[in-house]
Amino acid sequence: MSPSLLDVSSVRDYLSRRLLCQVATEHKAVALTFDDGPHPRHTPWLLDMLAAKGLKATFFVVGRRVRRYRDILARTHAEGHEIGNHGDHHVPLSALPDALIARELKVCGKLVEGVTGQQPRFMRPPMGWVSDRVLSVARNLDYEPVIGSIHPQDSRQPGVEVILRRLRRRLEPGAIIILHDGGWRIGASRQQTLQAIDTFTDELLAEGYTFPTLSELVDMAGTVKDPA
Ligand SMILES: [Zn+2]
Repeated sequence: MSPSLLDVSSVRDYLSRRLLCQVATEHKAVALTFDDGPHPRHTPWLLDMLAAKGLKATFFVVGRRVRRYRDILARTHAEGHEIGNHGDHHVPLSALPDALIARELKVCGKLVEGVTGQQPRFMRPPMGWVSDRVLSVARNLDYEPVIGSIHPQDSRQPGVEVILRRLRRRLEPGAIIILHDGGWRIGASRQQTLQAIDTFTDELLAEGYTFPTLSELVDMAGTVKDPA
């Protein structure tokens, strides 16, 4: 499944019945989530921006990147952000046998635990590739699988204005926003993501929104939004 399928409403309904996509809450709160890092340049820029505005986010990290940029993960954790598991090699988990799905999650989970002292609460399947098997293996390892509700496809670099339009269109309390600080190629630019999120968070702050970590957002509501 390609990420663009997340924008098809029937697929979104299917997913939201099986894993966390959005949180039901009356609070003006959204969770910013960033995938595929840590990245040696983009993640520190992003951390600086979040710190300057007093915002929290959740970072779904890839094990092989954590091995290289452990210090950036340590900073991310020290500054109060939440860390999620995005697999060890960023491969489509539903294409793997159960033992390898477990291995992808266990290896990344151990790397994160080595920095934060605990296994992440959430996992996000790379590229949105999920199946009942993936969900069952993840839950057996005590992970809560999560996708999200707003996916502006920032990693395709469609332009800052396009990213902003997509973010604004689906904005509502309890939204989980999928963005990228890392990338397939270490040289990939995330300038558009950083610019868009800078503007978007200013707009939301002016409207009275808060930016909790994913755990804080989920615990704020206690229940997952019913798609029906
Ligand atoms: Zn990813």
